[in-house]
This record gives sequence, C-alpha cells and structure tokens, in this order.
Amino acid sequence: MAEKYLPGDLQVIEAPSSRAWYDLPVPMKKGTYSHAGTPKHAAYLGLPNVREWQPHNEDWKLPDDWKEILLKGMRERLGKFRSFRLFMEMCVRCGACADKCHFYLGTGDPRNMPVLRAELLRSVYRGEFTLSGRLFGRLVGARRLTESVVKEWFYYFYQCTECRRCAVYCPYGIDTAEITMMGRELLNLVGVNINWIVEPASNCFRTGNHLGLQPHTIRDNIEFAVDEIKGITGVTVEPSINRKGAELLFVIPSADIFADPHIYTFYGYLMLLHELGIDYTFSAYASEGGNFGLFHSNELMKRLNAKIYAEARRLGVKWILGGECGHMWRVLHQYMDTMNGPADFLEVPASPVTGTVFENARSTKMVHVCEFTADLIHHGKVRLDPSRNDRLRVTYHDSCNPARSMGLFDEPRAIIRASCNNFFEMPEQTIREHTFCCGSGSGIGTDENLEIRLRGGLPRAQAVSHVRERHDVNTLACICAIDKATLPTLLNFWVPGVEVYGVHELVGDALVMRGESPRATTLRGEPLAEETNAGE
Ligand code: SF4
Ligand code: SF4
Repeated sequence: MAEKYLPGDLQVIEAPSSRAWYDLPVPMKKGTYSHAGTPKHAAYLGLPNVREWQPHNEDWKLPDDWKEILLKGMRERLGKFRSFRLFMEMCVRCGACADKCHFYLGTGDPRNMPVLRAELLRSVYRGEFTLSGRLFGRLVGARRLTESVVKEWFYYFYQCTECRRCAVYCPYGIDTAEITMMGRELLNLVGVNINWIVEPASNCFRTGNHLGLQPHTIRDNIEFAVDEIKGITGVTVEPSINRKGAELLFVIPSADIFADPHIYTFYGYLMLLHELGIDYTFSAYASEGGNFGLFHSNELMKRLNAKIYAEARRLGVKWILGGECGHMWRVLHQYMDTMNGPADFLEVPASPVTGTVFENARSTKMVHVCEFTADLIHHGKVRLDPSRNDRLRVTYHDSCNPARSMGLFDEPRAIIRASCNNFFEMPEQTIREHTFCCGSGSGIGTDENLEIRLRGGLPRAQAVSHVRERHDVNTLACICAIDKATLPTLLNFWVPGVEVYGVHELVGDALVMRGESPRATTLRGEPLAEETNAGE
C-alpha cells in the first residue's frame, strides 16, 4: 500500500481555508477513512441499524429517527458522565492544545486541532441543549444537528487516536480523547461504525481474541514458539494453557502469538518465565488483552473485559500478569476495577521471585510484564548479556496508553538499558508523557486509511529520524501490539532502516539461560556474532 504515496506528497500541507470551520465540507477523501462495519459482525454484536453502507455513499441509510436517537443519547450521557458535561462547558479556547495533535501536525486540517475536534460536539450541545445556543446560534458557536454534522463527526472522530497528548497541555485538563469516545459512542447508536473495530470485537465474543483464533490454533502457535525457542537456545520451555491452580494467569495481546514482529516478544516472555520457574498459565478464552470495545462504547468495553476476571476465577490463579499492549492497559488501569471488579477473589500481586508486592495493582490484581521484569532486573535475578544486542542502536517509543494512562516510563527503559548497550532517547518533548502517537491507534490501523495514518505518524517519525541522523539508530523498541503492527509501515515510509522490536524480544536475545546451547542466531533467526555470545 505504501508505494501509492511518496513522502514529498504527504509533506504538503494545504493552507487553511478562510471560511469558518463549520462551513467547510467534509473531505471524505479516499485513503483517509476506514470501511464501515460489515453487517455480519455488527449483527453478531447486536448493534443497531445493521445494513450495507460505506462512508463514501451519499446515503448512509440512517434510521428514520436518527436525530431523536442521537439527541436522546447525548442527553443521557450528559446526565451520566460528569466529565462529558464539564468538557462541553469549560473550554476557554486558549489554543494550548491546538498544535499538540499529530493529526493536525500531519494534515494541517483545522478540524484536527483538539479544540475544534471537541467543538464538533460542543457546537451541537450549545445548539440543541442551551437556551443561548438556540437563541443566538452561530454568534455563540452553536449549530443544530444535521446529517452533514453526523458525517463530520464520523470523519474527525476517526482521525483521533484517543492518545490524550492534547490533555497533557490543557490547563483545564480537558481530555479530547474522552470527547472522541463519546462522539463514537453516539455514532454507534445509529449504526455508524468502522469494521476494523466491529470485526475484532465480534471475534472476541466468539473465540476470545481479535483474529478469531480457536483453542487448537492457540495451542499450535504456542507449540510452534516452543519448537523455535528450542531450536535457537537448546532449551525446552513449558508453557501451559487453561491449567487450573497455576499461580498466575498471563494475558497477552493475541497478536503476540501469530504476528511479526510480535511473536519474538512472545519468545522473550516464554524464555524469561521458564528461566525463573514461574508457575503460570495462558487461557484460550482470555486469549486477548486488547479490547476494541474501548474504541466503540463503554458497554462493549465492559463486556469484553469481563472475560479476564472470569478466567482468573475459573482457573483459580492468585493474580494476573499482563503482556506488552497499549490500549489494553488503559482499560485495565483506568476502568477494569470499577467496571468488572473488585477482584476480591484474587491476591494482591507479589513477585514469586523477589517478594516485591505490587501495591499499584492492589485493586486491579494485574501487573504489567515490564513492571515484573524491571523488578527482577533491579534485584539481580536475571542474567543478561547486553552485548548480544550490540548490532542494535535502540531508541524507545513510549506507547501512548502505558505512558500517559499509567505512567509506565522508567520500567521499559530500565529493561532496555539492561538488555542493550546502545540506547538513545528521542527529543524530550516527544517522549514519556509528551510522546507522539503512532498515528494508527484506537482501531484505525487499517490499510484503506493509510494516508491519514502516515500523516498522523509524521511527528513520531520525525523524532525517530532525528536519532537516526544523530546516533545511527536502527531499532525502535515499544510495548504496544498496535505499535508493533503499524510502526513498521510508518518507519519504512518515513525513516527506512529502522526496525521495530518489542522490549521482551530484546530481553530474550540478551537472556543467558541455564543449560542453553551457544546461540548462533537471534530470535529472528539472524546471525549472532560469535564474539558477543556469552552463552558459550
Ligand atoms: S487547551 Fe484546553 S481550554 Fe485551551 S483550547 Fe484546548 S481544550 Fe480548550
Ligand atoms: S487525543 Fe490525541 S489524536 Fe485525539 S485530539 Fe488529542 S492529540 Fe489528537
């Protein structure tokens, strides 16, 4: 797909129109929106207004009473979510957020400024729910809800990756991601959705994971990983599935067991847990940490998340370990406890190796694998030979959700520094809580909207380009399954020569295992220089 675009073309930002933003037509340009949810998957989820339609069609086949449905939905949510009502009232239009969104920086489209993205809803709130808005209309920034507004909502709420970068800069703490979530939730009430969210969610209900992998396929893939690890290290790791009485349930994004480069991160987990003798099991039903309900509606998010605690209860584990994933951690960290908890039937997580009690997970009972591994490294419980990664010159991309939603900044860096000798940070204003999104999160990592993904990912790519030029960086490490799926395309387009790695892939390559054979290759099967092989 990337051959259709040239970097020079996508660096062209059109000058803003002199017309007011609400007079501008919705561009609906091919390459900048995703396909509609297919009837099969929408019906499986029990969504309303199931039909064949596409965003480029003139007629979206909305239900006859679409306007009543949307206004009723908005009224209910204004009453239910205090944050939503506050965000509709309190923006002072200071503009501090305006240039903080990667989609605005990559497109120059004013409606991609967070302040205007929120105005898409706020203007209707004023026009339909306030007296001043009804009386004075545009004079007070109000407008009525029309079909073209619905199309505008669809276009721009799916050009927001709910990354929350803008919220870091807002003096009032307005979180435009929450506004986008509300906008998408409203659209779903009239059957306006995208397939890249509806299909994985439907698959999750059927089999527990996004791809619809059935238990025997999960087992086959895990056995394949065991064989590969044996071939590379000479060590037989022994993961289990659906084993009752294990100490830990390990929940990972399903991409880790089938996608490239995710699978190498999976090898890294298996090797580490084997080396330490951890008593853990996977679940064939809670076989997906990711939760595309987050990008659809609160209700769907809650229903999809419930399987993790249900499986923890069924299997009788003590606590839950979670893998490298992005939005999974936003759901777990911010919502799980109140949505499906409290998980009183589980124990407060404590490392069986170091004894560290993870107080931050006292309530959710779920620990991020980077917290777990960083603690092991801190206590000197893992033997790592960073020279095995000397061919790599590494930078780290803070994936938006683990970074901004749970403050996971230092643990991945501690692991990388212990596993690699060559680590270089990107510029300060592009990392940690200021990190730039990959441009493809929140369910928009599709092929058909590649132009908007490449544009939205430009600020991240520019920061990678900076460290490539200065430090010859050739590796970008990250801890998000969507990043691992989409950043290779982005970097290949804007910064060729930089490969994407999971943090636990770096651990797996550096890990010195008891009884291992001399390593001839990396986990990717690439030759490993003999002089850097401490396992001999
Ligand atoms: S920074 Fe906050 S208050 Fe200022 S324009 Fe943006 S959302 Fe409004
Ligand atoms: S949440 Fe992220 S993508 Fe959405 S408006 Fe804010 S900065 Fe842009």
